[in-house]
Amino acid sequence: MKDVRRMLRQQVSTERFKYKLIIYSITMVHVVLFVLFNLLHIWPMVIFNVGSVAVYIKCIDIIKRGYESEIMKVFYMTYWEIIIHSFVATICVGWTFGFPQYIIGLIPFGYYMCATLLEGRRRYVIATALGLIAALSFIACRSLSLFAGAIFQIELPVAVELLIYIFNSVCNFVFLFMVTVIFVWDMQRITAQLRNQNVALDNMASVDPLTGLYNRRSMQDFLERALKSEEDFGLIMCDIDNFKRVNDTYGHDFGDVVLKEIAHIAKEKVSDRGYVCRWGGEEILIMSTDRLDHICETAENIRQEVEKHVFRCRGKELHCSLTLGVAGHRVGNAVEDTIKHADSRLYYGKQNGKNRVVTPYNSQ
Ligand code: GH3
Ligand code: MG
Ligand code: MG
Repeated sequence: MKDVRRMLRQQVSTERFKYKLIIYSITMVHVVLFVLFNLLHIWPMVIFNVGSVAVYIKCIDIIKRGYESEIMKVFYMTYWEIIIHSFVATICVGWTFGFPQYIIGLIPFGYYMCATLLEGRRRYVIATALGLIAALSFIACRSLSLFAGAIFQIELPVAVELLIYIFNSVCNFVFLFMVTVIFVWDMQRITAQLRNQNVALDNMASVDPLTGLYNRRSMQDFLERALKSEEDFGLIMCDIDNFKRVNDTYGHDFGDVVLKEIAHIAKEKVSDRGYVCRWGGEEILIMSTDRLDHICETAENIRQEVEKHVFRCRGKELHCSLTLGVAGHRVGNAVEDTIKHADSRLYYGKQNGKNRVVTPYNSQ
C-alpha cells in the first residue's frame, strides 16, 4: 500500500514537473518579449505581455495545487493567450517578426493535452477543433497583415528584424521539441508501467499467494514442457502428517504458518534444481530433472529438516513431520502414471508410520 502511494506521489510530481517546465518556458519568453516591446516602444504589446506574465503566474499556481481538471484550464488559458498574442502582435508590428509562428506549436500541444487529460471520443473532437482554430488563426494573421498592415511602422535594420524573427522561430522550435520529448517520455513511462503490471499479473497467476510456491497450473506447464523436451525427470509428492490435528488443536492460522514454513524448507532444499508447487491443500509436488538418486536424497533432506524444525505461532511451539513419495519419469510414459506412482508411494509411507520417504529403491 505504501509502495502504491509512493508511486502515485512520484507520478503526480512528474506530471506537475512537465506542465511547470512548459509554463515556465512560456513565461520566460513573455518576459523577453516584454523587454523587447519596451525597447521598441510598442506600448500595447508591453501591456499585453504584462497581462500574459500575470496569467502564467496564475497558471503556475494552479499547477502547484494540481488537479487534472484545473490543468486543462491552464492549457485553455495558454492556448487563447498565444492566439490573441499572435493577433495583437501582427496588428501592431506586422508579420515579418514571426510572432504568429507560436500558433503552430499549439496543434501538437493541444493533441497531447487533450489525449492525456480528457476521456473518450470527446478528446479527439476537442483537439481537432482547437487544431483547426489554430490553423485558421495562423492564416488569418497572415491575411490581416497583408490587407490591414501594421499600426506601428518601425524602422529597424534588417539584421535586427531577422534576429527577432530567429528568436521567435527558435522559441517555437524549442517548444515543439519539448512537447515531442514529453510525449515520447510519457509513452516510455506508460510502456514500462504496463510491462511491470504484466509481470505482476503473470506472477499472481502462477504463484500460490499463501506459500509463495508455484500453483498447480504452473506445475502442469512445467510438466508439459519437460514432456516436450523428452527429458527424464523425477517427482516428489509431499503431504504433511496429521495436519488436520494441527488445525484442530492449534487453529487454522497456526496451520497456515506450518504450511508456509514447510514450503520454504522445500524451496530451499530444491533450490534451482527443480520446481516446487502447491499441488493441493497441504500437498506439495516437486519436479526435478536431477538424477533420481539425487532427487531421493533431496526428499530425505526435506523430511529431516521438517522433522527438526520448531514451528512457532503466538507463543506456541510445535513439531511436524512430512511423508514423501518419489517416482521417476521415463520418456514415453504418461505423466499421470508417474504422479500416481509418487502418490501411491506417499500413501504407502502414510500406511507405514508416516514421517518417511518412499522411493523406487526402498519400496516394492
Ligand atoms: P495424514 O497424516 O494422513 O495426511 O493426515 P492429515 O490430517 O494431514 O490429513 P489430510 O492430509 O487429508 O489433511 C488435509 C487437511 O489440510 C485438511 C485441511 O483442513 C488442511 N488444509 C488444507 N489446506 C489448508 C490451508 O491452506 N491452511 C490450513 N491451515 N489447513 C489446510
Ligand atoms: Mg493431504
Ligand atoms: Mg496430511
